[in-house]
Amino acid sequence: MGITVIGIGPGAESHITPAAVAAIRRADIIIGYKTYLRLLKNFVPDTPRQSTGMRQEVQRVNQAVDLALDGKEVALVSSGDAGIYGMAGLVYEVLRRRGDDSVAVEIIPGISALNAAASLLGAPLMTDFAAISLSDQLVPRDDILRRVEAAVSAEFILCLYNPKGKQRVKPFELTCEILARHLPPETPVGVVRAAYREKQAAEIITLAELPAAEVNMVTTIIVGNRRTFVHNGKMVTPRGYAEKYNLAGERA
Ligand code: SAH
Repeated sequence: MGITVIGIGPGAESHITPAAVAAIRRADIIIGYKTYLRLLKNFVPDTPRQSTGMRQEVQRVNQAVDLALDGKEVALVSSGDAGIYGMAGLVYEVLRRRGDDSVAVEIIPGISALNAAASLLGAPLMTDFAAISLSDQLVPRDDILRRVEAAVSAEFILCLYNPKGKQRVKPFELTCEILARHLPPETPVGVVRAAYREKQAAEIITLAELPAAEVNMVTTIIVGNRRTFVHNGKMVTPRGYAEKYNLAGERA
């Protein structure tokens, strides 16, 4: 009896880890968004599934806890990694709130959107980076913008999750303004939509082009720093080897 919180990666079956597949196979019931449940159908055609819509996370986690207390093995599925803007933390929060210490919880890691996006763009995350979600649904907008400003002034590469929603464009616009104050307009920016899904699109643009870029709910944006370059269509942040070694191969 327990809950396994499973990150199933960005979207392709081949990016679901064997550990995640094993956990999904031993579950009595699988709970998650419709899109992901559809994806898992091939692995477990007969396991009961319960899909819930967006913004029903609390209800969904409570339901998972109830089922676990009834003796079921519950799989709670998140996209990417369940511990990165996923369901893992909420499970622990709900259990604490309910004063429960009997439900066993296991977290299975998955490939997050930042790994997926980076791999399609080239190698933009070779030095220190910061992940920031621009969703102001749970975090005050001012806090988000303060983090953007702090990270960009400290030369971090930025991985922007939840950059824009249908009704939520302001944090993105304000973020673009902050970035423009700190970085040159030609700074490379990677915009990755639906990584490893059917409608995948990865483009490398400049910071000046970012405000007008096509950005939707399944987009991850990687903003380079002053050292990030584009070579042969790939976005790369050098780690510093060139300052220490002769990269062309001859002895220095
Ligand atoms: N737990 C997930 C993140 C969930 S938050 C993870 O670790 O990846 C949802 C945000 O993740 C989206 O708004 C988008 O920014 C990003 N995302 C999720 N799947 C993606 C994909 N296939 N391609 C690009 N971005 C994605």
